[in-house]
Amino acid sequence: MSHLPSTNSDGPTKGPGSHDVDVVVVGAGFAGMYMLHRLRTHGYSVRVFEAGTDVGGTWYWNRYPGARCDVESLEYSYSFDKDLEQDWEWTERYSSQPEILAYAKHVADRFDLRSDIRFETRVEAADFDESSGLWHTRTSDATTTSSRFFVMATGCLSSTTLPDIAGIEEFGGVTVHTGQWPKEGVDLKDKRVAIIGTGSSGVQAIPVIAEQCKDLVVFQRTPQYTIPARNEPLNAARQADVKSRYREFRAANFAMPQALGSEIPKFNDSIHDVPEDERLRRFENAWERGGTLFMSSFNDVLVDESANVYAQDFVREKISEIVQDSQVAAKLTPEHIIGCKRLVIDTDYFETFNRSNVRLIDVSQDPIHQITSSGLATQEDEFEFDVLIFATGFDAMTGSILRVGITGRDGLTIQEKWSAGPRTYLGLTVPGFPNMFAISGPGSPSVLTNMIVSIEQHVEWITDCIAWLDERGASTIEALPEAEEDWVEHVNAKADRTLFPGCNSWYLGANVPGKTRVFMPLLGFPGYVRRCNQVAENDYEGFIVQ
Ligand code: FAD
Ligand code: NAP
Repeated sequence: MSHLPSTNSDGPTKGPGSHDVDVVVVGAGFAGMYMLHRLRTHGYSVRVFEAGTDVGGTWYWNRYPGARCDVESLEYSYSFDKDLEQDWEWTERYSSQPEILAYAKHVADRFDLRSDIRFETRVEAADFDESSGLWHTRTSDATTTSSRFFVMATGCLSSTTLPDIAGIEEFGGVTVHTGQWPKEGVDLKDKRVAIIGTGSSGVQAIPVIAEQCKDLVVFQRTPQYTIPARNEPLNAARQADVKSRYREFRAANFAMPQALGSEIPKFNDSIHDVPEDERLRRFENAWERGGTLFMSSFNDVLVDESANVYAQDFVREKISEIVQDSQVAAKLTPEHIIGCKRLVIDTDYFETFNRSNVRLIDVSQDPIHQITSSGLATQEDEFEFDVLIFATGFDAMTGSILRVGITGRDGLTIQEKWSAGPRTYLGLTVPGFPNMFAISGPGSPSVLTNMIVSIEQHVEWITDCIAWLDERGASTIEALPEAEEDWVEHVNAKADRTLFPGCNSWYLGANVPGKTRVFMPLLGFPGYVRRCNQVAENDYEGFIVQ
């Protein structure tokens, strides 16, 4: 057990002016939880607001059958506390949602986090008051909280989206979104079920739901490249080995481009320089090993389209081998660049389409145009079912920030500031919004990494920044417009050297009608960390400090 001191929120505040707490944090997922803990250990008073009834964020909301992480459990966990790391035992290579939620709850208990979290309280607005230099946060319980600092820990994938299909309200059966799955579960036994969407959530849910329900109809608009996860019970010797050298293991992962997978073989040669048998052997090994690092078999699969085609063909061949009905296999076969939409990992996804109770409907040519009281209609066909599942994703990276009415200096709102797409400095701060930070914000590596590593790096950078301001008696820090300009260019330049901008992905905001297309995450974790450290070492260059 940790014996770290705990300060309750309404305890002493630091710095100038009268305010309720030093820091308001929005969200109690892994980001908000660690932000609270870290600030407390530095003696700051904190209040966290969370819309849900408990901690866990993603793992609180996404309770759909089959939900689990795609980063290995020994890596997808906090590293900040050595005792926590040693005490917690993971049971599978990739943990299931209930186990990750249990872990989040354990962390909340262990560090007494809940005493500073207001649950079932949504942050509706936050205004920066220039005269006092304070943020005023308005919440759904009709209260306002003043603070010196305001931290958005609202998650990159927490604002669910529903497609704009007529009649959604008309459906007489059960309607549910994977990202807001009810705590009490959904009874699927003997039910006719329909699912719309074949991204990571759909791909994880479909095989499990097919086993539980009577009939399943899958409505697919774009087929997915998915690689077997090869999930299995976590080998006890492997867990003990990693625990015996956890610092070294974490440090090695921290140095990886995606902050993960340091022990997976990587190759730094071009696919064009490798003979065919070696090329197939490497892909075959990666397929058998399972997991998201399939693309690391060569150094150019995500930068050179002709190199990418080899990887596409390999997966297409696998689909044709697994799926027995050639017409179904053809519908399941993607045409786009592999990896430019987030690569999915699965358990028995393609195999599920060999089951007699599963039907695949391709809605790319014949879109869904109407939800009816008993099912749905495409232009050419009609379907009836009892349960309708939307696995249609999220307004990623900016959705949960833009859904709060945030107003900075001179009455500028975040909606106005980001009307042509998100603009930040370091993915952490925005000019015009002093003392506001976003954890894993747009322009940071976030969703292209093991997110818990990125979250820890941000939380520690923010805490150090606040402590530095106090040490020198400063009250505000604000990014400069020219620093933002350079940063936006840097993020775009990195993306433009890859194939990532080449298809309709949520990384680009392409899944939300009307959203400006901007590649939102930054590629390359180690370079990013170096830059953040350099900024701090150079007395927060790119910021105005007063
Ligand atoms: P979240 O966990 O999203 O928490 C944000 C919290 O903020 C939520 O609880 C929300 O209710 C709250 N909130 C938002 N707005 C408000 C408001 N206005 N007022 C009050 N509360 C608010 N990442 C990986 O690295 N590896 C994985 O394997 C992985 N698997 C994933 C699986 C799924 C199904 C999904 C959806 C995402 C996955 N991710 C994964 C990304 C995942 O979101 C992060 O790993 C991580 O959990 C994010 O933590 P967070 O605290 O930043 O955000
Ligand atoms: P997603 O990747 O955005 O997938 C949404 C799906 O819904 C897509 O197949 C999309 O089709 C489809 N869709 C949307 N509107 C539609 C319409 N009108 N008609 C038909 N289909 C429609 O969302 P997600 O699956 O929830 O995943 C989001 C992210 O969360 C992932 O990329 C990943 O980062 C994270 N996640 C991770 C895991 C994990 O393995 N650990 C699991 C779940 C989620 P189009 O492709 O044609 O747009």
